[in-house]
Amino acid sequence: MPSAEAITLTLPDGSETDGPSVGHSSLAEPCRAENPERDWALFLDIDGTLLRLVPDPRDAIVDDDLRRLLAAATARLDGAIAFISGRRLAVIREMLGPLAVHAAGLYGLEFLSDGVEFATPIEVPMALADLADQVERLFAGEPGLVIERKGPVLSLNTGKRADLLSTILPLAERTLERLPAGYRNVIGHAGLELMPVAADKGSAIRRFMTMPPFQSRRPIFIGDDKPDERGFAAINASGGISVRVFPAGETQAHYGVEDVDAVRQWLGGENFPDVTAFTRLTASPNTVPQPVHLPV
Ligand SMILES: [Mg+2]
Repeated sequence: MPSAEAITLTLPDGSETDGPSVGHSSLAEPCRAENPERDWALFLDIDGTLLRLVPDPRDAIVDDDLRRLLAAATARLDGAIAFISGRRLAVIREMLGPLAVHAAGLYGLEFLSDGVEFATPIEVPMALADLADQVERLFAGEPGLVIERKGPVLSLNTGKRADLLSTILPLAERTLERLPAGYRNVIGHAGLELMPVAADKGSAIRRFMTMPPFQSRRPIFIGDDKPDERGFAAINASGGISVRVFPAGETQAHYGVEDVDAVRQWLGGENFPDVTAFTRLTASPNTVPQPVHLPV
């Protein structure tokens, strides 16, 4: 666990709490809501948070146990659960079925609220398609490489092939010069993604927080990867509980949870949503060691 100075959490009422420097937080008194079904809103990343990371995202499966946990948690929060993912919304709906009532796909470019879909219309830039073609042409058949063309978002999954990532990265960086302003490269657990400025999990969470059943509740967001950091920042700014799944690198999250199994255990816990179950991260910026290595 990190051991630098403790962070101060500003609560929505303006008061502050420091909590202990290690171990479980002291959130029990100031942050525990009395009516979970009305007081908390839960935002969940999917891959690496609810599902273990796999080399090919198409192989990830939502098992029945997870469905049961999510259904129970949704009922407990009176429906205030939204999935915030980099996957396409259509894929999220296919994976989660009727559980996907509220969801943000493509980091918020696609949005599902109470069963109604909205999409931010963004053209697929020619340069993005060119990069996908180039990578496909140069590296087709390379073990570990999975190219996902997701409209205005391009995922170049390289798994644990650091050599592949370092070869592809300069190509992606050159492509940025040809892409619309605001496009960025994000290196995460699975490899590299190029996404437009509007692809922002923080914006997606803020948008949900203006809508029922999320508005006026205290938000919790659990994620595991680089694109989740903007979500953590949005949550921190609103006095919510930001939780990063271990292991990871530097993070803005204020809390940590060990792994996917621990997230599931928390979802199914008797006292759900007991935020005291999360471990307080104490460094600023918070850090947790050990990069994730995907199986090939
Ligand atoms: Mg993730």
